Amino acid sequence: MTATADHAPSSNVDQAELDKFSALASRWWDPNSEFKPLHAINPLRLNWITDLSGSLAGKTVVDVGCGGGILAESMAAAGATVTGIDLAEKSLKVAKLHGLESGVSVDYRTISAEDLAREQPGQFDVVTCMEMLEHVPDPASIVQACATMVKPGGWVFFSTINRNPKSFLMAIVGAEYVLRMLPRGTHQWQSFVRPSELAEAARAANLEPVRLAGMSYNPITERYALNQDTSVNYLMATRR
Ligand code: SAH
Repeated sequence: MTATADHAPSSNVDQAELDKFSALASRWWDPNSEFKPLHAINPLRLNWITDLSGSLAGKTVVDVGCGGGILAESMAAAGATVTGIDLAEKSLKVAKLHGLESGVSVDYRTISAEDLAREQPGQFDVVTCMEMLEHVPDPASIVQACATMVKPGGWVFFSTINRNPKSFLMAIVGAEYVLRMLPRGTHQWQSFVRPSELAEAARAANLEPVRLAGMSYNPITERYALNQDTSVNYLMATRR
């Protein structure tokens, strides 16, 4: 990942990536849809976030690349004041509708991370950016924006997919072609991000990487678990 200091934010978008998510937008809250894995991992990642950063009650949080709001809503339900941002309008529409139904309030906005960072620097106790970095042209620019938005001492949580032969086999061949958990073409292997690359981008943005966890899927039990194996899916907690 190359950090680009003077990045034109509107260019850090891959329209084809946004289109993929927009096409599926109506199914964000169907737990048996293409988004089933995100529903399945949500309690794990929410626990991980609160274990490290403490109760979310009364905290300000921004969820970057929030999609239909699976994580954003759960953090709001835990008592946080949550802003959810994404550039796929259709997904945000679905997120807003779901919030009306569930009565959990999240402020959803169509704005890039870079633009919100300019608008609200140092405003958030917690920043989350989950399963999103592997869909943008310049992940380091997103990492920088997250670092800008968090308060000094605050937490920034990332999750993405490692880049190695095993992740090609598991996350693309396995998940998209064999198990068909995800539509073909969901992920591009070249866009996956190694933990070392993410840590480097974090440090360059003055975030200190403090915890790394792997997340693995057992196709027999159909269960996900957090563990030490960061070779495919992983989470990284950082602090400003
Ligand atoms: N973070 C959510 C959704 C992950 S799916 C979750 O983990 O539950 C990836 C999301 O990233 C999609 O909603 C997609 O629209 C969004 N996304 C892709 N490129 C983006 C960009 N450049 N800016 C903001 N969001 C983006």
